[in-house]
Amino acid sequence: MVTIGVLALQGAVSEHIKMIEDNGAKGLTIKRTDQLDAIDGLIIPGGESTTMRRLIDKYHFFEPLKAFGQAGKPVFGTCAGMILMAGALTDKKEGHLGFMNMVVERNAFGRQRESFEAHLSVMGIPEYVEAIFIRAPLVQEVGEEVDVVSVYDDEIVAVRQGPFLACSFHPELTDDPSMHQLFIQMVEEYAELEA
Ligand code: GLN
Repeated sequence: MVTIGVLALQGAVSEHIKMIEDNGAKGLTIKRTDQLDAIDGLIIPGGESTTMRRLIDKYHFFEPLKAFGQAGKPVFGTCAGMILMAGALTDKKEGHLGFMNMVVERNAFGRQRESFEAHLSVMGIPEYVEAIFIRAPLVQEVGEEVDVVSVYDDEIVAVRQGPFLACSFHPELTDDPSMHQLFIQMVEEYAELEA
Protein backbone atom coordinates (compact mmCIF):
# COMPACT_ATOMS: atom_id res chain seq x y z
CA MET A 1 0.00 0.00 0.00
CA VAL A 2 1.39 3.46 -0.84
CA THR A 3 1.63 6.25 1.74
CA ILE A 4 0.51 9.74 0.75
CA GLY A 5 1.29 12.76 2.87
CA VAL A 6 -0.76 15.93 3.16
CA LEU A 7 1.20 19.10 3.91
CA ALA A 8 -0.40 20.23 7.15
CA LEU A 9 0.75 23.81 7.66
CA GLN A 10 -2.65 25.31 6.82
CA GLY A 11 -5.86 24.51 4.98
CA ALA A 12 -8.13 21.52 4.35
CA VAL A 13 -5.96 18.66 5.59
CA SER A 14 -8.24 16.10 7.29
CA GLU A 15 -10.59 15.93 4.28
CA HIS A 16 -7.67 14.94 2.05
CA ILE A 17 -6.49 12.33 4.57
CA LYS A 18 -9.98 10.82 4.62
CA MET A 19 -10.12 10.67 0.80
CA ILE A 20 -6.70 8.96 0.73
CA GLU A 21 -7.64 6.41 3.37
CA ASP A 22 -11.07 5.67 1.89
CA ASN A 23 -9.43 4.86 -1.44
CA GLY A 24 -6.83 2.26 -0.61
CA ALA A 25 -3.77 4.23 0.46
CA LYS A 26 -2.30 5.26 3.80
CA GLY A 27 -2.53 8.96 4.71
CA LEU A 28 0.07 10.85 6.71
CA THR A 29 -0.32 14.36 8.09
CA ILE A 30 2.97 16.13 7.35
CA LYS A 31 4.04 18.54 10.06
CA ARG A 32 7.80 17.98 10.06
CA THR A 33 10.21 17.90 7.15
CA ASP A 34 11.68 14.48 8.10
CA GLN A 35 8.23 12.94 7.50
CA LEU A 36 8.71 13.57 3.76
CA ASP A 37 11.09 10.57 3.73
CA ALA A 38 8.24 8.28 4.76
CA ILE A 39 5.85 9.05 1.89
CA ASP A 40 5.47 7.99 -1.74
CA GLY A 41 3.46 11.05 -2.79
CA LEU A 42 2.36 14.41 -1.40
CA ILE A 43 -0.78 16.53 -1.52
CA ILE A 44 -0.45 20.30 -1.08
CA PRO A 45 -3.93 21.41 0.00
CA GLY A 46 -5.96 24.54 -0.60
CA GLY A 47 -5.89 27.48 1.80
CA GLU A 48 -4.17 30.77 1.20
CA SER A 49 -1.00 30.48 -0.86
CA THR A 50 0.72 33.54 0.62
CA THR A 51 0.08 32.31 4.18
CA MET A 52 1.13 28.80 3.27
CA ARG A 53 4.35 30.09 1.72
CA ARG A 54 5.07 32.08 4.88
CA LEU A 55 4.63 28.92 6.98
CA ILE A 56 6.72 26.86 4.52
CA ASP A 57 9.57 29.31 5.08
CA LYS A 58 9.01 29.59 8.82
CA TYR A 59 9.19 25.80 9.33
CA HIS A 60 12.05 25.33 6.84
CA PHE A 61 9.98 23.29 4.39
CA PHE A 62 11.00 25.08 1.19
CA GLU A 63 14.18 23.17 0.31
CA PRO A 64 12.88 19.75 1.44
CA LEU A 65 9.69 20.22 -0.61
CA LYS A 66 11.66 21.34 -3.61
CA ALA A 67 13.93 18.30 -3.29
CA PHE A 68 10.88 16.02 -3.03
CA GLY A 69 9.53 17.32 -6.34
CA GLN A 70 12.92 17.42 -8.04
CA ALA A 71 13.36 13.73 -7.17
CA GLY A 72 10.33 13.19 -9.41
CA LYS A 73 8.05 12.05 -6.59
CA PRO A 74 4.35 12.63 -7.26
CA VAL A 75 2.78 15.83 -5.94
CA PHE A 76 -0.87 16.88 -6.21
CA GLY A 77 -1.71 20.54 -5.57
CA THR A 78 -5.29 21.67 -5.05
CA CYS A 79 -6.24 25.34 -5.31
CA ALA A 80 -3.60 27.19 -3.24
CA GLY A 81 -1.51 24.03 -3.71
CA MET A 82 -1.72 24.57 -7.48
CA ILE A 83 -0.51 28.15 -7.01
CA LEU A 84 2.47 26.91 -5.01
CA MET A 85 3.40 24.41 -7.75
CA ALA A 86 3.34 26.90 -10.62
CA GLY A 87 6.53 28.08 -12.30
CA ALA A 88 5.11 31.59 -12.60
CA LEU A 89 2.24 33.70 -11.28
CA THR A 90 0.57 36.66 -12.94
CA ASP A 91 0.65 38.79 -9.76
CA LYS A 92 4.17 38.09 -8.56
CA LYS A 93 7.70 38.28 -9.92
CA GLU A 94 8.53 34.69 -9.05
CA GLY A 95 6.69 31.43 -8.53
CA HIS A 96 7.03 29.37 -5.34
CA LEU A 97 8.01 25.70 -5.75
CA GLY A 98 7.93 25.93 -9.54
CA PHE A 99 7.32 22.22 -10.22
CA MET A 100 5.11 22.82 -13.27
CA ASN A 101 5.70 24.82 -16.40
CA MET A 102 2.62 27.02 -16.21
CA VAL A 103 1.49 30.55 -15.42
CA VAL A 104 -1.27 30.76 -12.79
CA GLU A 105 -3.57 33.66 -11.97
CA ARG A 106 -4.81 33.84 -8.38
CA ASN A 107 -8.45 34.59 -7.47
CA ALA A 108 -9.23 34.45 -11.15
CA PHE A 109 -13.01 34.14 -11.09
CA GLY A 110 -13.63 37.55 -9.55
CA ARG A 111 -16.02 38.63 -6.82
CA GLN A 112 -19.25 37.44 -8.44
CA ARG A 113 -18.01 33.88 -8.56
CA GLU A 114 -16.10 33.57 -5.31
CA SER A 115 -17.37 30.09 -4.66
CA PHE A 116 -19.37 27.64 -6.78
CA GLU A 117 -19.79 24.02 -7.72
CA ALA A 118 -19.40 22.46 -11.14
CA HIS A 119 -19.25 19.11 -12.89
CA LEU A 120 -16.18 18.71 -15.02
CA SER A 121 -14.89 16.34 -17.58
CA VAL A 122 -11.34 15.30 -16.63
CA MET A 123 -8.96 13.36 -18.88
CA GLY A 124 -8.42 9.87 -17.43
CA ILE A 125 -11.68 9.86 -15.44
CA PRO A 126 -14.72 8.32 -17.16
CA GLU A 127 -17.47 10.07 -15.13
CA TYR A 128 -18.04 13.79 -14.59
CA VAL A 129 -16.04 15.05 -11.61
CA GLU A 130 -17.65 17.10 -8.86
CA ALA A 131 -15.66 20.23 -8.14
CA ILE A 132 -15.94 23.01 -5.58
CA PHE A 133 -14.20 26.26 -6.49
CA ILE A 134 -13.35 28.72 -3.70
CA ARG A 135 -11.56 31.94 -4.71
CA ALA A 136 -9.98 29.69 -7.26
CA PRO A 137 -6.92 30.23 -9.44
CA LEU A 138 -6.79 29.56 -13.19
CA VAL A 139 -4.01 28.37 -15.43
CA GLN A 140 -3.31 31.11 -17.98
CA GLU A 141 -0.51 29.44 -19.92
CA VAL A 142 1.11 26.01 -20.09
CA GLY A 143 4.39 24.77 -21.53
CA GLU A 144 4.54 21.94 -24.06
CA GLU A 145 5.26 19.30 -21.42
CA VAL A 146 2.04 20.08 -19.55
CA ASP A 147 -1.17 18.18 -20.32
CA VAL A 148 -4.38 20.12 -19.84
CA VAL A 149 -6.69 17.55 -18.22
CA SER A 150 -9.73 19.71 -17.54
CA VAL A 151 -11.27 22.88 -18.90
CA TYR A 152 -14.23 24.79 -17.48
CA ASP A 153 -15.81 27.72 -19.35
CA ASP A 154 -12.84 27.70 -21.75
CA GLU A 155 -10.43 28.08 -18.84
CA ILE A 156 -7.82 25.54 -17.75
CA VAL A 157 -8.67 24.13 -14.30
CA ALA A 158 -6.61 20.93 -14.08
CA VAL A 159 -3.19 19.99 -15.44
CA ARG A 160 -0.67 17.20 -15.32
CA GLN A 161 3.05 17.21 -15.99
CA GLY A 162 4.68 13.81 -15.42
CA PRO A 163 4.44 13.09 -11.68
CA PHE A 164 2.70 16.41 -10.94
CA LEU A 165 -1.05 16.97 -10.88
CA ALA A 166 -2.77 20.24 -10.02
CA CYS A 167 -6.34 21.52 -10.01
CA SER A 168 -8.00 24.88 -9.34
CA PHE A 169 -10.75 23.32 -7.25
CA HIS A 170 -11.25 21.39 -4.01
CA PRO A 171 -11.97 17.73 -4.74
CA GLU A 172 -11.62 16.89 -1.03
CA LEU A 173 -14.71 18.93 -0.12
CA THR A 174 -17.01 16.76 -2.26
CA ASP A 175 -18.10 13.13 -2.01
CA ASP A 176 -16.43 12.39 -5.31
CA PRO A 177 -13.13 10.52 -4.82
CA SER A 178 -12.13 10.36 -8.48
CA MET A 179 -9.34 13.00 -8.44
CA HIS A 180 -7.80 11.30 -5.41
CA GLN A 181 -8.13 7.91 -7.11
CA LEU A 182 -6.31 9.34 -10.13
CA PHE A 183 -3.50 10.65 -7.92
CA ILE A 184 -3.25 7.41 -5.91
CA GLN A 185 -2.84 5.59 -9.22
CA MET A 186 -0.01 7.97 -10.20
CA VAL A 187 1.68 7.34 -6.84
CA GLU A 188 1.29 3.58 -7.22
CA GLU A 189 2.85 3.71 -10.69
CA TYR A 190 5.77 5.75 -9.32
CA ALA A 191 6.25 3.38 -6.36
CA GLU A 192 6.32 0.42 -8.75
CA LEU A 193 9.02 2.06 -10.89
CA GLU A 194 11.09 2.70 -7.76
CA ALA A 195 10.73 -0.84 -6.40
N1 GLN B 1 -7.22 32.40 -3.26
C1 GLN B 1 -6.33 31.53 -2.56
C2 GLN B 1 -4.87 31.90 -2.83
O1 GLN B 1 -4.61 32.77 -3.55
C3 GLN B 1 -6.57 30.08 -2.93
C4 GLN B 1 -7.94 29.69 -2.47
C5 GLN B 1 -8.07 28.27 -2.09
O2 GLN B 1 -7.11 27.53 -1.91
N2 GLN B 1 -9.30 27.89 -1.88
O3 GLN B 1 -4.01 31.29 -2.26
